[in-house]
Amino acid sequence: MTDSERQRVEARLALRGVTKFHGAASFVDAHTIRIAGEGGADQVIRGEKILIATGSSPLRPPEFSFEDDRVHDSNEILELKALPKKLIVIGGGVIGSEYAGTFAALGAEVHLVDGRDTLMPFLDADISRGLADAMTANGVRFHWKEKVVKCDASRPGDVILTMSSGATLAGDGVLVCAGRSSNTEIAQPRRRRTHPGQARPRPGRRALSVHRSAAHLRRGRRHRAAGAGGHGHRAGARRRLSRLR
Ligand SMILES: Cc1cc2nc3c(=O)[nH]c(=O)nc-3n(C[C@H](O)[C@H](O)[C@H](O)COP(=O)(O)OP(=O)(O)OC[C@H]3O[C@@H](n4cnc5c(N)ncnc54)[C@H](O)[C@@H]3O)c2cc1C
Repeated sequence: MTDSERQRVEARLALRGVTKFHGAASFVDAHTIRIAGEGGADQVIRGEKILIATGSSPLRPPEFSFEDDRVHDSNEILELKALPKKLIVIGGGVIGSEYAGTFAALGAEVHLVDGRDTLMPFLDADISRGLADAMTANGVRFHWKEKVVKCDASRPGDVILTMSSGATLAGDGVLVCAGRSSNTEIAQPRRRRTHPGQARPRPGRRALSVHRSAAHLRRGRRHRAAGAGGHGHRAGARRRLSRLR
């Protein structure tokens, strides 16, 4: 199904004369893009206008020990090998609420921690309350007006979170859904120095402070192949998570 949908989109792009380049793109200057292919061969293309559509990445607040296998961001959670018995979700936004509900439905004990006292405050208050009530009925426990100040993953078993009130919460899984930021580092071509006598960037030098590795792009492709991009996201995530049961 995914393959046939991909082929359909690719055929349509080819029909419209769209040329595809595979690799990690970075700006050389405001109208020039270098594409680092997986085989090591670079290509350079130019455009009058360049549209950047590089997606977003999860924010990783420094107080969490993401290097530990039990602490996840909203991308990594799709790579779980086993369902946690007790999952602590940080953040009651769109993504945190969605995963809290999903893991509770899969049978995990789920705790959701948020610094506010309502789910997704941009929603109509009745809808937000109705959603929180439905999640409570499904077993989700809320810890409102709490902020995690410490994450101790130094011992086997449970990760221990200390909250702003001084209370602690222990679980064998922690999912941090603290927002996402756009991958705009590609959008920052290095500014040319314009003062007389100052050096200009060397021709061909990479114009970005950060750029994505080919491995990162491969991971992204796997993620989307699992249905994690755009409108197929929820279905893809559910399919993957249901395999953990
Ligand atoms: C947990 C979660 C749940 C979501 N649920 C939904 C939902 O139910 N419904 C919905 O509509 N949306 C949902 N979304 C949002 C949706 O996934 C995004 O809005 C959508 O994928 C954004 O599309 P995009 O094309 O901007 O970015 P992406 O789909 O992220 O695509 C960006 C592309 O750019 C490529 N790229 C990045 N940097 C470079 C570079 N330097 N060189 C070359 N290529 C590069 C990447 O490899 C990738 O192919 C969800 C998002 C998350 C995180």
